[in-house]
Amino acid sequence: MHNFSCMISPETFIQDFRDLRRKSPQCGSWARASENCDYGDIMVVSKDSYMCFNSGNCQNAYYCEDSRQMTDCCDCTFCEGCELCYECVDCDNCYDCNYSQDCSNCRSTDFSYGCKRCKNCFGSVDLRDKEYCMFNEQLTKEEYEKRLNDFDYASASIRDAAFAKVEALKLEMPRMYTHQLDNENCTGDYVYHSKNCHICFDTRHTEDSGYIIQANLDMGTKDSWDCGPIPTGMDLCYDVGYAHYLFNCHHLYFCGNLKECNWCTDCFESANLFGCVFLKNFDKGYHILNEEVSEEDFKRLVPRIEEVLKNNGIYDIWDLINKEVPAQPVIEARDMKRICLLCESDFVLVNDEVKFLDEHKQVWPMYCPPCRASHRINLRNRRDLYKRKCDCCKETLITTFPENCEGLVYCFNCYMDEIK
Ligand SMILES: [Zn+2]
Ligand SMILES: [Zn+2]
Repeated sequence: MHNFSCMISPETFIQDFRDLRRKSPQCGSWARASENCDYGDIMVVSKDSYMCFNSGNCQNAYYCEDSRQMTDCCDCTFCEGCELCYECVDCDNCYDCNYSQDCSNCRSTDFSYGCKRCKNCFGSVDLRDKEYCMFNEQLTKEEYEKRLNDFDYASASIRDAAFAKVEALKLEMPRMYTHQLDNENCTGDYVYHSKNCHICFDTRHTEDSGYIIQANLDMGTKDSWDCGPIPTGMDLCYDVGYAHYLFNCHHLYFCGNLKECNWCTDCFESANLFGCVFLKNFDKGYHILNEEVSEEDFKRLVPRIEEVLKNNGIYDIWDLINKEVPAQPVIEARDMKRICLLCESDFVLVNDEVKFLDEHKQVWPMYCPPCRASHRINLRNRRDLYKRKCDCCKETLITTFPENCEGLVYCFNCYMDEIK
């Protein structure tokens, strides 16, 4: 039987949490299981990639963002499984394609939009299983090769003319109302292999969830709301950004492999944490503000702290980190029709969402979905890179933290070594 003398005061929780964060190092750049990917951030299982962000399983990728399984690609965004591609957006399983968008399973298809399973096409829109088409016109192999040969890729004005022709072609073709594939009962855009998703964007392999954004890495999300960017392998989670493999967690930023954790940042491989920062391997016992407390104290204090958060207008993890307190407390209305406290636009709660929130004992949102999403996105630095030293080992770091920023910034190895 442990005997803990509990010094935690709910009244000072917000300031105590912020003090903890100020003392804790932040990770200068995150490259997990990756090699030679120093210039960039949030890279997993990747190799020899430069200036890539939020991407995984990449090799020889340059300036690629929010993409996965990219090999020898450059300047691609929201792509998956591409090789030798350049300047592509939302393409998947393409090979040797340039300046194309929304194409899948294409080969050597340039300046094209919405094409599937095409080969050797150029400037074409919405074609299926075609070869040797130029601006949707079927040509012979010889004619196609001759015209392609005459096309000067190096000339900006010739490229612009090709784009303009494609834009005109796009207007002639009916456009699909949403980008979805292999889904059941989903709303949003760019949602794939998913089921019962409410207003999700750039999301794959996700089920029974709402307001999930940028779920592009290994796994999606189940029974979760307001998660992302980069939610990977989450179950029963709420208000979580930049995190992976979580079960029943709420209000987290930059965390991984957690169970039953709330209001934390920089915590890994742990369980039953509340308001903790920079902890790893704390999967035994109960912790508040990095201090071990008895289960009894934990259960007594958590509802009191949550009351304090609510009374100070702390509604999400961004608020806990950044919001000026005390803020004017807002009476918690139980109306489905609401007005965002931040941008004052109207928004509506849906039944599944309310059911989830009540089951998870969460305050109904005070901010509209786009404001909630930008709060989570804005927890991270902008994608500007600086050269600075790791505050621990003095190794040179390429990081989104400028040299003169507040607090400690460590390289991935020092960060993971020092965290305990
Ligand atoms: Zn809003
Ligand atoms: Zn270091």
